[in-house]
Amino acid sequence: MTHTLPNLPYSAEDLSPAISAKTIEFHHGKHHQAYVNNLNNLIVGTKFENADLETIIKEADGGIFNNGAQVWNHTFYFFAFSPKPQKAPTGKLLDLINAQFGSFEQFKEKFTSAAASLFGSGWAWLVVNKEGKLEITQESNAGNPIRKGLRPLLTCDVWEHAYYLDYQNRRPDYLKGFWDIIDWKVIEERLK
Ligand code: MN
Repeated sequence: MTHTLPNLPYSAEDLSPAISAKTIEFHHGKHHQAYVNNLNNLIVGTKFENADLETIIKEADGGIFNNGAQVWNHTFYFFAFSPKPQKAPTGKLLDLINAQFGSFEQFKEKFTSAAASLFGSGWAWLVVNKEGKLEITQESNAGNPIRKGLRPLLTCDVWEHAYYLDYQNRRPDYLKGFWDIIDWKVIEERLK
């Protein structure tokens, strides 16, 4: 199958000032697109030629894993954003957050700390574990928690290409803006 770059459910300028139009144009239009193109080239003639992304994440290695996981990770990241987000979790998701982290504010602090302290390139994740509880995890490079049997709800891209045009080396400032554009309605849907 041929993998394609999904169109975003908002315009490039819609997430400003948290993320600029220029960053979206490069991050989605160039980086995300490049992972799609690389994946389509790499799978030709392999057992992953007709595999979906989740199968690739669970079973592939090397370039096919790296590019397939990056396609999935970026789609998951971009689709959690909205210019008019629901600003906080409610219902079952809020209950799980309170049970695991004490409060939404304490969850945000812990997740921000995981994203800020991740060395080098990678992703911070909120996942549901096998016991149905929430966990915050870190993955380097293209890492994806599906490979470990965890179910992702939210991710933050901390590769420098996600923020360097807007914030240069100031990853903590990028993380502050990140919370302003997360649509918790989307995350609640992912929990269902
Ligand atoms: Mn990225």
